[in-house]
Amino acid sequence: MTPPVDRLSRPLRDLRISVTDRCNLRCPYCMPREVFGRDHAFMAREELLSFEEIARLARQFAALGVTKVRLTGGEPLLRRELERLVEMIAAIPGIDDIALTTNGTLLAARAGTLRDAGLSRVTVSLDALDEQVFRSMSDTRLPLARVLAGIDAALAAGLAPLKVNMVVRRGVNDHCALELAEHFRGRPETLRFIEYMDVGASNGWRLAEVVPAAELRDAIDARWPLEPIVPDRLGEVATRYRYRDGAGEIGFIHSVSAPFCSSCTRARLSADGRLHTCLFATHGHDLRALLREGASDDDLAREIALIWTARGDRYSAARAEQTTRRGSAHPRIEMSYIGG
Ligand code: SAM
Repeated sequence: MTPPVDRLSRPLRDLRISVTDRCNLRCPYCMPREVFGRDHAFMAREELLSFEEIARLARQFAALGVTKVRLTGGEPLLRRELERLVEMIAAIPGIDDIALTTNGTLLAARAGTLRDAGLSRVTVSLDALDEQVFRSMSDTRLPLARVLAGIDAALAAGLAPLKVNMVVRRGVNDHCALELAEHFRGRPETLRFIEYMDVGASNGWRLAEVVPAAELRDAIDARWPLEPIVPDRLGEVATRYRYRDGAGEIGFIHSVSAPFCSSCTRARLSADGRLHTCLFATHGHDLRALLREGASDDDLAREIALIWTARGDRYSAARAEQTTRRGSAHPRIEMSYIGG
């Protein structure tokens, strides 16, 4: 089948697969405890796509042009035997890169087996190096050392290049940004700062808490001079810089201040098999129903191609063009469900 392009001429290249809606952290900006508490109805096992169903869909996506797959969640390492899924995806012709986004707390014991199964690389989320700030950003009692051990184990296993993502909230952890930059300078990991995004009423987002990437870049450049790196592929989400003194690279993900919708080549598959063509799309297309009604591979590929061809989303760009607002106007987006 001819690889589809959407209404804005964007090809389909990347697939983010959320393998679970559960997480062992309760980061207030993502899964606040008030919303995702004891009474929250997480998905039942039979609602989740099985590994066989995920792999079958991934094969159709690969046939339509997808070369990169990212496993996310929720916390993907909570899904049992994830290595088996990695192995199945690694066997799909056309997929040359399998990445995992994780909070790192369960990574130390799994890095080697994931690598052996065919995982290419990991991105670890880490919002502070200060124990107290880490615990309040993640609303957890788990120690920061667990995440750092996960990062070390991933490096030792050869899961590279390893990225570390820090979500920055003004007045909450922005004072930790330079410390993180200093820690990762000269190390093999690449630190990237993510602008705090509005995911709807659930995280009480306020524009005032967003630290624009340019402001952070200027602060880092003033301390350790930077020079830009030319992007090497369409759809790169981070603007990359290298330290002029040779201490490596650093990135900025400016989803709020300068959205990158025009080059977005990413589809997202939720844990229950809905295809979202944008993180902020409130409607997902139910591929699980098709799978379970007995659709053939051709039917599935045709449906995915139709959905992609009709895609016109540029939600973040459209929102940025609106006048500046103080509070959230989004319907609730569940990152854990769609896969942030
Ligand atoms: N549990 C995994 C993890 O922590 O990396 C994967 C899922 S998590 C939803 C994926 C990424 O989304 C994390 O880096 C997290 O920090 C980021 N994220 C969640 N909510 C966000 C928000 N409101 N703004 C910006 N990034 C957010």
